[in-house]
Amino acid sequence: MSAYEMFPEPEIDEGGVRFTPTRQAGLVRLKQFAVHAGRRYATQRNFDFGPEKRGNVSALSPWIRHRMITEEEILAATLAYHSAERVQKFVQELFWRTYYKGWLEQHPSVWTTYQDGLRQALNTGVCSADYADAIAGNTGIDCFDYWARELVETGYLHNHARMWFASIWIFTLRLPWELGADFFLRHLLDGDPASNTLSWRWIGGLHTKGKIYLACAENIAKFTDGRFNPHRQLSTFAEPLSEAVLHPLVKLQTVKPFSGKNTLLVVTEEDCQIETKLPNTPVARLGLLATKELSPLALGDMVTAFARAGVEEACGTASSDANWTDQIITAAEAAGAETVVTAYAPVGPVARKLATLGPTGLKIRRIRRGYDNLLWPHCTKGFFGLKKKIPKILSELGMAA
Ligand SMILES: Cc1cc2nc3c(=O)[nH]c(=O)nc-3n(C[C@H](O)[C@H](O)[C@H](O)COP(=O)(O)OP(=O)(O)OC[C@H]3O[C@@H](n4cnc5c(N)ncnc54)[C@H](O)[C@@H]3O)c2cc1C
Repeated sequence: MSAYEMFPEPEIDEGGVRFTPTRQAGLVRLKQFAVHAGRRYATQRNFDFGPEKRGNVSALSPWIRHRMITEEEILAATLAYHSAERVQKFVQELFWRTYYKGWLEQHPSVWTTYQDGLRQALNTGVCSADYADAIAGNTGIDCFDYWARELVETGYLHNHARMWFASIWIFTLRLPWELGADFFLRHLLDGDPASNTLSWRWIGGLHTKGKIYLACAENIAKFTDGRFNPHRQLSTFAEPLSEAVLHPLVKLQTVKPFSGKNTLLVVTEEDCQIETKLPNTPVARLGLLATKELSPLALGDMVTAFARAGVEEACGTASSDANWTDQIITAAEAAGAETVVTAYAPVGPVARKLATLGPTGLKIRRIRRGYDNLLWPHCTKGFFGLKKKIPKILSELGMAA
């Protein structure tokens, strides 16, 4: 038993969360939450008490998404208060994020197939009145309409609300799942190609083939603490979605360790803390953004502002989404840098931008975190493969097992 476990957990701070886009704000939230990450999280995390009562979950996802705070920092902070056993539910949830990142990395065709499906659905579905009603929160299903508005206004939804929302979207409203996933990506501050796409696919029965998540009124009434009860409004039967394409397993790319000097550091929204992993201080820093390419439609202002602020804080200069190749050449020339270093970007817009850079005449080196190198190889099949490795992984990370 750790010293902290001898004391009861203090009362939950019942308040809502302000998603201020600074590392400091993320660290403050982590500090507030870490003490609650044990029994209280395990027993209450499924309740969505509404945006003004987020004490039962961490609400750290926007900061984690851009690695303004890292998974390892979160593990260290929570394991400082609790034994690994006591905090295991929270650790498992955190590992879901890594599982999805690693899985998509090794099945990249899921992302491109989603983008193709989205384009097709937009061509046929964007003008449909049902789609317009769904994203405006005008369906007449109170809980769904509330969450549609909450998402746009706050940039966050509780995990259970995301599950109910996606399920109602797919099985009650019968709208294309890609349009719903896109609506999330355009408004979630934590919008992530891996967690979002794969969660929507999981709800629809595409990730675990044939297994769907069907929202039901009783469950919503219970876990919203009676705030909603869509009695007789939801589909009670549903067929899993299916697809004609197969998604082959692609071998993880090997990334060699880097020890060079005289570097230009390119900070992107994928990892605002990558400088801590560089062997030497860079001679200059440049912030580059690809957030807008998450969707062919306009993103919520808060989403672009959060990512931009994170990158700008990390690199100490203004950031831009203008021509990446030109910006890199200009910044490297001005600083006399020989090599460009940047965080390894997992599947998504940043990776695509990096892969399609024009000739720069510079060496470009990617740094992949040891954390990803350690976990991703276990993310090829179901989550269970990673889950059973958690004690070993924690011990390899030098944390309590
Ligand atoms: C349809 C749908 C879409 C989603 N889209 C996203 C997304 O775009 N980005 C995103 O980060 N998460 C997504 N999630 C996962 C999950 O809902 C959020 O990570 C979580 O609600 C964030 O709130 P929190 O930080 O309070 O979570 P906590 O419960 O406090 O969990 C701590 C951290 O663990 C990770 N995590 C927890 N649950 C999950 C999960 N089920 N899957 C993956 N990671 C998890 C997150 O990084 C989270 O911040 C989605 C889930 C669903 C059902």
